[in-house]
Amino acid sequence: MQISRPRGTSDILPEEARRWRKLENVIHELCRLYGYGEIRTPIFETTDLFLRGVGEATDIVEKEMYTFKSKGKRANSLTLRPEGTAPVARAYLENGLYALPQPVKLYYIGPMFRYDRPQAGRYRQFHQFGAEIFGADDPAADAEVIALAMTFFKKLGLKGLELHLNSVGCPECRPVMREKLVEYFNLRIQECCQDCRNRLVKNPLRILDCKEDSCREIRRGAPSPVDCLCTECGAHFEHLRRYLDLLNIPYHLNPRLVRGLDYYTKTAFEIIIPGAGAQDAVGGGGRYDGLVQEIGGRSVPGVGFALGLERTLLLMLDGAGEVATAPGPEVFVVTAGETRDTATRLVADLRAAGLVADRDYTGRSLKAQMKYAGKLGARYVVIVGEDELRGGRVALKDMEAGRQTEVYLEEMVDFLRRAVGK
Ligand SMILES: [Zn+2]
Ligand SMILES: [Zn+2]
Repeated sequence: MQISRPRGTSDILPEEARRWRKLENVIHELCRLYGYGEIRTPIFETTDLFLRGVGEATDIVEKEMYTFKSKGKRANSLTLRPEGTAPVARAYLENGLYALPQPVKLYYIGPMFRYDRPQAGRYRQFHQFGAEIFGADDPAADAEVIALAMTFFKKLGLKGLELHLNSVGCPECRPVMREKLVEYFNLRIQECCQDCRNRLVKNPLRILDCKEDSCREIRRGAPSPVDCLCTECGAHFEHLRRYLDLLNIPYHLNPRLVRGLDYYTKTAFEIIIPGAGAQDAVGGGGRYDGLVQEIGGRSVPGVGFALGLERTLLLMLDGAGEVATAPGPEVFVVTAGETRDTATRLVADLRAAGLVADRDYTGRSLKAQMKYAGKLGARYVVIVGEDELRGGRVALKDMEAGRQTEVYLEEMVDFLRRAVGK
């Protein structure tokens, strides 16, 4: 029986991988411009990190984590990372990055894992680009990460981006928010879905972003988080909005935007491409001033985002972001007769000299090798024939011009290097 890949995963084949590479190059270049350093954390972490850093009353922790028991005597519970912020915060803490001049600005690209119903652009192993700023509570830092995310999408030619913005308050004003929401939903909870009935007790803010139709209808008249902000959160939000205006980044105020994660404070945002399907958010983020403390550190403010790369690539398909097809080898070495030893050395020498060189490995005839070289799109073909080789020469065919000449074998590498301009 043939074994297939697990559901919700994908193979990225070479042609597609070139588009990924292009996307990743844009990320590395942008993050360099914005002063972010790359961080690579493990694919799995202690389960506790996500229980505390993501929050137990979230869909991620309740339904979507790939959790397994490690091996050995004191085996603990491990989880394939479902998101990147908690691991980066853990790394910041564990490596003492708080001792560096603040803020510390980090970014990552990598796979995340969530047990979710697979659909277009949504996988169980998916990739995110995320950026985080630790140690800055200035709303200008919030504006910077938003600008970075928006610029990334623009660089890739994505059109029709909408920035949705909200503030979810802080530990001081959140209780007021909760109280007002509980008061509102208590009277209507029988009409809400089962998830929201649980949320009413554990995390009432999350009822605001429930996707069920019945719940959408009920929350129409619900109190807005922004109306409950304390003075400090209100001022932070106002400053952020002014910075976005200064940066010419338009936004929509969206009181329903609460994000699924418990550690978010103040700013919450989402980037949406309307009409891009049911899951039209391509990324989001916000401030998480409570996170580092939640996972056992001191109180360190933080703000960041995570963007879905599969969805970004899907949107890149229509229009910009096209990548030219891979060029063929610069040189293809063909053997005629018993010249395989010479060909083997020649290919190695060409590659060592920085030329893209290849050869046949399936025992094709001379004619078939020539045809194969043509199919690969080889620029030059070197034909190593027995007779010519006795005179120290090989034949060189310029595939574009269709011309064939003879060159001394020992001069071949230099000759070709000049020919391709290397
Ligand atoms: Zn507040
Ligand atoms: Zn609901």
